[in-house]
Order: sequence, then structure tokens, then C-alpha cells
Amino acid sequence: MTWQATKQTSLKRIEAGDFRNRALIHKTLPPGVDGHAGLRQHAPMRPVDMQPIGDELAIKWDDGSESYLPLEALRRACPCAGCQGEMDVMGHLHKGPEQTLTPASFQLAGLQTVGSYAVQPMWADGHNTGIFTFDFLRRLAERHAG
Ligand SMILES: [Zn+2]
Repeated sequence: MTWQATKQTSLKRIEAGDFRNRALIHKTLPPGVDGHAGLRQHAPMRPVDMQPIGDELAIKWDDGSESYLPLEALRRACPCAGCQGEMDVMGHLHKGPEQTLTPASFQLAGLQTVGSYAVQPMWADGHNTGIFTFDFLRRLAERHAG
């Protein structure tokens, strides 16, 4: 009881102190050295639109850029445990039985967004356990650009 009360009070005090410090930093930093601009550049980008076009997934990002990711590359990069294996606590990689990829494995049957951070493709061969974060998609797309 006492401990909880103490903790809450000190938390509040830290928050207030932190706030004051930040205001201070803003005032004392010369223009252009405000670290927030740099942080914003590394903020994860999010797709505003995604649709399969032919054998590619067209992604429009919130910065206005567009990516065309081959569906085959997307499927082969499937991050699920069945496709990529799972690391145990000892650091050993366990892979599931080898999957036979057919032409249907590279056809998109559906695309579902997961929360506000990822998409879960449904493949025509029934595979749908891979969750691709937007960040991962972006990196994949960059690897396949040009
Ligand atoms: Zn998979």
C-alpha cells in the first residue's frame, strides 16, 4: 500500500520533471539541431493503398512513393514459423516440413490488415499465417526496386 502510493507520487514527479527538461532542451538547442526532425525521418512508413496488379503487389506509401513487389518474392519472404522456421531458446532453428510451392502459392487470394502495423496475405494455396509488418514490406520492396 505504502509502496504503491510512493511509486505513483514519484512517477508523477518524474513525468513533470521530464516535461520541464524537454521544454528546456527545445529552448537551448540551436535551430536545426532539434533532434525531432531526425526522428521523424525514421518513423515507420505506412501504406495508404495496397492492391495486387498482375503478379505484383502495388503499394502506395504515406510519403507518396509507390512500390511494386513481386508476389513470388513476397511469398518466399513469408515470415511465419512454418516458412522461416522458429528459433528455440538455445538458438537452434527449427524448420517445419519443406513446403511445396505451386503457382497457386504466388497468387493472392486476399489481404487483411493486422492492427495498424501489418498485413496478412491469404495465398491461393491456403497459406495465411505470415504477418508482414509495414516496415518489413517496405524493406522487401526496397530490395526488389529497380
Ligand atoms: Zn509462411
